[in-house]
This record gives sequence, C-alpha cells and structure tokens, in this order.
Amino acid sequence: MKRILNSRKSIALVAHDNMKDELIEWALFNKTDLSKHHLFATGTTGTLLESVLDQPIIKFLSGPLGGDQQIGASIAEGKLDVLIFFWDPMEAQPHDPDVKALLRVAATWNIPTACNRATADFMLTSPLMNNEYEPVLPDYSSYVNRKLKH
Ligand code: PGA
Repeated sequence: MKRILNSRKSIALVAHDNMKDELIEWALFNKTDLSKHHLFATGTTGTLLESVLDQPIIKFLSGPLGGDQQIGASIAEGKLDVLIFFWDPMEAQPHDPDVKALLRVAATWNIPTACNRATADFMLTSPLMNNEYEPVLPDYSSYVNRKLKH
C-alpha cells in the first residue's frame, strides 16, 4: 500500500470547545500558510474558521454528531493528509470513543498529526508541508490477506 501526500495538502482541523479560541488564533496567525492548502473541519470549528480565514472550509458534521468519524473515514480513504486536532486534556468529552478512533486511524495511516499548538507550529513550518511526501506505511498485506477459519 502506498500513499502520497501532495504538496498542496488536505488538512483537517478540529478543536474541542475549550480549545477553539486557541485554534482560531493559531489559524489567523498562519492564515497565509494555510491558504496554500485545502482545509476541512468539524462543523463548529469550521464555522469559526470561516469567520477568520479568507478561504473555503469543507465542513463535516459537528464532532459529537459524527464529524470526528467522518474525518477518520476520510483519512482511511486517503482523502485527508494532515490532522490538526486540539483536543482538550482537561475535560471529558461525550464522544470520547470517537476522539480515540480518530487518533487511532491517523496513527494507522501514519499521517502527520498535531494535537497541540507547538506541534502545529513545527508542522506548518516544515519544508515537507509544501512538498510531496510519502508516509512510510506498515505492510498491512499479511493482515488483509490473513486466512480465517469459517
Ligand atoms: P465541533 O467538533 O467542531 O463541531 O465542535 C469538534 C469535536 O470533535 O468536538
């Protein structure tokens, strides 16, 4: 299995409620760099981002209503290249299983994932962000082709 992240990346942005101000501030600060990429977001985060950025944001459902799962599915399908997910370390979420699933699928497909502002800064300033990149993927073929008794 092979996957190429194009120089123009498809970036998914998600922030839990207590983290939304921080993500919006970060996005505003990095407006020019972000404009080089395609942006996607969970519903509420996306609406807030649209109000500060001059570029379209493709919005999924709100996170707790299934938006995290939609982003996870898009990562699995190879439609999203980068995940910026400011999850709240100080408050339990009603959709905690979805949060865990999203982080798991991002790790499964080895896509760049930033869970805090410092990592997002490092990520956005990486030369790899504006170049084609091929993430090394584990060989999942023996898993996919495993023989099961039935
Ligand atoms: P929201 O979802 O952007 O719709 O608030 C974020 C989340 O996953 O909690």
